[in-house]
Amino acid sequence: MKVGILGATGAVGQKFIRLLQNHPWFEIAALGASSRSAGKKYKDAANWIEDVQLPGYVAEMTVSVCEPDQMQGVDFVFSGLDSSVAFEIEGAFARAGIPVISNAKNYRMDPTVPLLVPEVNPDHIELIKTQTFTEDGSGWIVTNPNCVAVPLSLALKPIYDAFGIEAIVVTTMQAISGAGYPGVPSLDILGNVVPFISGEEDKIAPETQKLLGSLNNGSVEMPDYPVQATCTRVPTLNGHMAAVTVKLVTKPTSIESVKEAVLGFENPIADLGLPFAPKEVIKLHDEERFPQPRLHADHENGMQLHMGRLREAEVFDVSFVCMAHNTIRGAAGGAILNAELLVKKGYLS
Ligand code: NAP
Repeated sequence: MKVGILGATGAVGQKFIRLLQNHPWFEIAALGASSRSAGKKYKDAANWIEDVQLPGYVAEMTVSVCEPDQMQGVDFVFSGLDSSVAFEIEGAFARAGIPVISNAKNYRMDPTVPLLVPEVNPDHIELIKTQTFTEDGSGWIVTNPNCVAVPLSLALKPIYDAFGIEAIVVTTMQAISGAGYPGVPSLDILGNVVPFISGEEDKIAPETQKLLGSLNNGSVEMPDYPVQATCTRVPTLNGHMAAVTVKLVTKPTSIESVKEAVLGFENPIADLGLPFAPKEVIKLHDEERFPQPRLHADHENGMQLHMGRLREAEVFDVSFVCMAHNTIRGAAGGAILNAELLVKKGYLS
């Protein structure tokens, strides 16, 4: 299938280009960015920050503006657009009959738009049928969660299913690649921790609630547990870590029963043969010093969720840490896995 990338010059856009090299189903056919980049060859428009060589054919492609008639011939688009422009541009592509698989926040909480992590809520793709961008249903939008909501929802899913969730306290340690390019000024982040990330804490409660919600008569019924979130930026390159403490509805008999629930997680897409799906979705580490972003973020091509420090909590019931690669599992890789699921389920053809 021929795919376009909106926001192709940014940090997430570059990750799409890297990850889509040699993808068995998808081929990059168009690249879109702002008018600052449009008309230039990709190698002149983008400041390539990936640690592999920019693929030759992509380097020579001309970047266009993000308008549907400028990116014709694509079967669908991935979006790594800045959220200040994503609402208008993604809506225009959907209205033009071009499906959009987005990383931006703008449509995530729209009740007709799936907020999708394939291993958590694959059934939510049915929401596509309730969208009205086009009369014939050819144009629609599917979104990826925020790069913290991805690891958090994967870690919480088996716990939520087994025990229910009453409240969450979470503190994140987020890598600098999460701020895009050029991102956080070096003088702010080198040897430092910044204890606030604008707009980040507000996304965690609604997005994890929508992900863990159940689909009922064409809409998602969301749990309403409160979340106390503190999001910090730390000087790691890739891999967002979160320290989590959860109050459960049903009290576990022991911490072993929580471990069993995590280890017994049944992956609903395990048998679909999706190229980007990790074999072991949740890696639960026993060693108390693991997981660590530098050692584990790239495991299973950056698509694995790492958990560790799973223990009884002094306050609430259970504590743990979780971590995943923010621009792969939490952004471009997650979006590619979403697209693969949509192909398998017949929404993309
Ligand atoms: P970024 O590096 O700042 O890239 C932003 C992209 O948007 C660039 O390609 C830029 O093109 C394009 N753009 C800006 N204004 C535009 C306009 N008026 N018209 C068309 N294109 C325009 O940001 P990023 O980190 O890649 O993030 C992209 C999106 O993914 C954001 O919505 C972000 O919240 C989300 N996200 C990021 C992460 C992460 O870990 N980084 C994780 C999950 C989700 P130019 O180069 O031409 O300006």
